[in-house]
Amino acid sequence: MKKDLSIDTIAVHSTYIPDETGATNPPLYLSNAYKYKNAQHAADLFDLKTAGYIYTRLHNPTTTILEDTITKMEGGSGAVATSSGHFAEIMLITCIASFGDEIIASNSLYGGTINMFSTTLKRFGINVKFADQDNPSSFEALINDKTKAIFIEALANPASDIADFEVISKIANKHKLPLIIDSTCATPYLFRPIEVGAAAVIHSGTKFLGGHGDVMGGIAVDLGTFDWSSGRFPSFTEKDMSYHGVIYAKDFGNMALAVKMRAGVMRDMGGTPSPYNSYAILQGMQTLHLRMERHVSNAVKLANWLMECDKVSWVNYPSLKGNKNYEMAKKYFPKGAGSMLTFGVKGGIEAGRNFIDKVNLAIHAANLGDVKTIVTHPASTTHRQLSQEQRIKAGVPDDLIRVSVGIEDIEDIINDFKIALS
Ligand code: PLP
Repeated sequence: MKKDLSIDTIAVHSTYIPDETGATNPPLYLSNAYKYKNAQHAADLFDLKTAGYIYTRLHNPTTTILEDTITKMEGGSGAVATSSGHFAEIMLITCIASFGDEIIASNSLYGGTINMFSTTLKRFGINVKFADQDNPSSFEALINDKTKAIFIEALANPASDIADFEVISKIANKHKLPLIIDSTCATPYLFRPIEVGAAAVIHSGTKFLGGHGDVMGGIAVDLGTFDWSSGRFPSFTEKDMSYHGVIYAKDFGNMALAVKMRAGVMRDMGGTPSPYNSYAILQGMQTLHLRMERHVSNAVKLANWLMECDKVSWVNYPSLKGNKNYEMAKKYFPKGAGSMLTFGVKGGIEAGRNFIDKVNLAIHAANLGDVKTIVTHPASTTHRQLSQEQRIKAGVPDDLIRVSVGIEDIEDIINDFKIALS
């Protein structure tokens, strides 16, 4: 008999158990503070000796349900939800790395992440080096004793690039480094980073998890698989004097990262989600599996139609035969390689902009993972901050149009594209 609930069922029910009111949906706790039982209880909470709520900048009961649900879906040990996907990234990285440290990241990443890594983290004194994920040994070549983590995306935005996760995770393991996977575009429905050896997962909840383009949020999940006591991570093995001398690796075992993100970063940086946003993401997640199924089947149909269209110069979708990510898609994405595809319109940048102006049903906006089909021209929007060289390295030529294929009737999407292209 099957022992564990499937991802679909966990998403539908969340970890919420109806309370004494019998309410079938998780309560929305709009409270900044929580009444202590007595002075000793308050002291124990502040010393992290007992679990419970202190203040919503640190945690909130509605947000806890979101954190626990995603932790369960990812097979992890704990998670911290954040105000945005970007904050989840910066919280996780600054939890692991400090001034003078280095991170190695793939150069095929969301443009905003490349920008944050190469500018803002640099101002924090954290140097991010970029490697070529199609050539995993390029990660190993950049590792030195300052390196603290390897960071890659699953179905990298916008090119839907797929790394050979197992090979990169072997390199990370060999050097006792945590592999962090941003799984925003894959979602727990299509991909489970723990199965390829990741130590932590990031999601922008703004995208497919929420799913309806109406809520911002993020989450960083501790998969509980990584040993922080190798000597490479003194901030995990030495006393944290800002938190009563706790030693995260010793005191919190396989939840060391989750506790340190909350106690050591969130407490001070405060990128907390609104409890309402946590609630809205939980609501969205109840249909994640159904939406993803339709997102994927629509993407496959649209990619095949574009391949046949004489106005289109190229189409990039991982599960198209001959695509550079085809083999990796087969290996890592048996349920489908997401719903993001890119293509070029014959006539280059001008023809591309013209297409964008002519679509009617599809929305021209900078977002993805919405139930509605969204088209974007990354060179003039999401990847505008990057140099042309960085854009090419990130797989974003100037004529590229990104489509986040929605869950409308595919005939209507194709019709819209047909009219706009002609
Ligand atoms: N990661 C990926 C892959 C993204 O596409 C995005 C945003 O587009 C982010 C992280 C950042 O998420 P947010 O917009 O919620 O800050």
